[in-house]
Amino acid sequence: MSTDPTDDLCKAIDERRDELVELTRALIRFPTVNPPGEGYRPCAEFIGDRLRARGFTVDYVRAAGTPGDSERYPRTNVIARRAGTAPGPCVHFNGHIDVVQAGGGWTLDPFAAVVKDGRVYGRGACDMKGGLAAAIIAVEALIDSAANWLGTLEISGTVDEESGGYGGVHYLAERGWFSPPRVDHVIIPEPLNVDRVCIGHRGVWWAEIETHGRMAHGSMPFLGDCAIRHMHAVVERFERDLYPKLAARHTDMPVVPPGARHSTLNINSIHGGQAEVPGFPTPVVPDSCRMIIDRRLLIEESIDSVKGEMRELLDQLVNDRDGFGYHIRDIFEVAPTMADRNGPVARSTAAAVCRVLGRDPEFICSPGTYDQKHIDRVGKLRDCVAYGPGILDLAHQPDEYVVIEDMLNSAKVMALAARSLLYGTA
Ligand SMILES: [Zn+2]
Repeated sequence: MSTDPTDDLCKAIDERRDELVELTRALIRFPTVNPPGEGYRPCAEFIGDRLRARGFTVDYVRAAGTPGDSERYPRTNVIARRAGTAPGPCVHFNGHIDVVQAGGGWTLDPFAAVVKDGRVYGRGACDMKGGLAAAIIAVEALIDSAANWLGTLEISGTVDEESGGYGGVHYLAERGWFSPPRVDHVIIPEPLNVDRVCIGHRGVWWAEIETHGRMAHGSMPFLGDCAIRHMHAVVERFERDLYPKLAARHTDMPVVPPGARHSTLNINSIHGGQAEVPGFPTPVVPDSCRMIIDRRLLIEESIDSVKGEMRELLDQLVNDRDGFGYHIRDIFEVAPTMADRNGPVARSTAAAVCRVLGRDPEFICSPGTYDQKHIDRVGKLRDCVAYGPGILDLAHQPDEYVVIEDMLNSAKVMALAARSLLYGTA
């Protein structure tokens, strides 16, 4: 045995390589597809059974009444907690157990968890069952490495991240599961690459804009007022005024890819006129057209200013354009979030990456959101980062995989980071 506790801990994780692979495969074999939220309970119980056998206290929390929750598809979350021999801080690892639909284009069975060429394949391998398995192995190795240790370690497997986290981290955060003093530091092993520490994400505002018209016979459109033409005027204003403005707005957040270091707006869909039913359309001037917008915000912007900017553009059209009328409806919003890169969890994770991989990590922010928003905004816990082994670009793709070597390295990073957080050496 070496006398360096860091080397010993890394070695202990290397020795668990097969166990890590088998744990990842076992998690992938639960087809926890969301929607509808298939197999959440058995997957949560699998994690709970494993950790209870290793001395953890295990709680199951069903997010009753949240979207999608039913007797057939219960929103079952698992939280496992193990206290050390002396009081100290609590380090929490949070992974979502839900996955998106397999979709087409697979050359392998998405739920068979095939091991090939040093990788584990399957839906959720990368996003994020590989990361969750690595966190579990990291925590188990850390606990086994010392007879006496300070503080508390927690692992949670939560649901519905892919649909906003309302039955998962949001529900738990509202009930204090992610707040100090219960928890002090959180690492979310989302797939953001093994050499990057993600300190936050941009915000999002989804809304529906509806333009109004007046119905008339299609052969005499001058007797009506076409809602689609009014929507076209909206898109024209986006092109002329809004897109250049958004592109010029730059953020200090280290968002990847760099194209996302600006404010962005996606026109998610436009529906106007008659529904596209099979058969011959009847000639009608459409009286309504609806557009769904997906606006991504920077830490320098507020949701109110973003909404105000949109309303101002639409109000201008009311002034400038005959017959223009609109209605705007909020669908969903999340404020941007960014942890301090000099905070304890970011610093200790970065130091551990440097130790394990021999190079400094890159600090990044995610272009989209993940469960950090609920931990920050609802749980009021700022010291949270995302760090995990998967390759970001593979998430949600066919033939998704996670590299076994990356899982081992990230498990070492998580174990070392947790140890320095528990012992206050970060
Ligand atoms: Zn994810």
